[in-house]
Amino acid sequence: MNPMTVREAMQQASRFFESNNIIDGPFLAEYIIRHCLEWDRTAFLTRLQDPLPEDSWGKIKEIMERRANGEPLQYIFGEQEFYGLPFHVNPSVLIPRPETELLVEEALQRIPEIFPEDQTIVVVDVGTGSGAIIVSMAVFGSPRWKYLALDISPDALKTAESNARSNGVGQQISFLEGDLLSPFQNGTVPINVLLSNPPYIPSGDIAGLDTQVKDHEPLSALDGGQDGLDLYRRMINQLPPVIGDKAFVGFEVGMGQAEDVKAMLEDTGLFQETYIIDDYAGIGRHVIAIRS
Ligand code: GLN
Repeated sequence: MNPMTVREAMQQASRFFESNNIIDGPFLAEYIIRHCLEWDRTAFLTRLQDPLPEDSWGKIKEIMERRANGEPLQYIFGEQEFYGLPFHVNPSVLIPRPETELLVEEALQRIPEIFPEDQTIVVVDVGTGSGAIIVSMAVFGSPRWKYLALDISPDALKTAESNARSNGVGQQISFLEGDLLSPFQNGTVPINVLLSNPPYIPSGDIAGLDTQVKDHEPLSALDGGQDGLDLYRRMINQLPPVIGDKAFVGFEVGMGQAEDVKAMLEDTGLFQETYIIDDYAGIGRHVIAIRS
């Protein structure tokens, strides 16, 4: 029997996903095959008639089945790009989402407007997970700034540290284990930039989430308590004694939460400017508060 060509593998894989009622079958098939062959898109498109290298089909089939069982491809391959940088991911951390890049972008744009250039500012990422936010900040922000990443999960911190190292900023970021802002409560380090994408799904909504999320991503990175706002409430309560005289706070929030979180920040009386940024789907996704 002639060996299967790449094109035939592509067709079989697409049909497999279709028969398992998984949308985006051709996209997934191409992604998995390219990954297993370590081919870029050009190689793939120009070599569809090549015979599939021996052993590859077994590996491709195993990955297709894991994906069909709901496992996210990012965990299967252990990687996700964020802000143009490669990140390792595993089931102890949330897979970074593209909308979170808008938070990093806003922070990088606004910080130089708020702080004098020679000020050594402290940039903090609470609930760092994979380290997506703080690593991007350290790569694209000033080497004069101090970067701190916090998480309550030691496994998440390990992942974030490894991502900092592989992106060349391992020496610039300090990693602290703790519950939200509690490591700062002695008030010795004022926080100038606070970024956080905390768990914000209302507990009762978790069961209705997509299986890729609810059965594979860490619950501790998703569950935001009864109304989803627990972690904002606690973090904002911890804020007054630890915030700097000038500060930028940027929170990512869930659908329908932006106005409530903005009001909570305004009620502290700490900020002169607050606003909401919409994501690509037009949903209020980030709440920004500025103390100037
Ligand atoms: N800060 C990480 C991210 O934005 C993790 C967020 C989380 O686990 N809730 O991807």
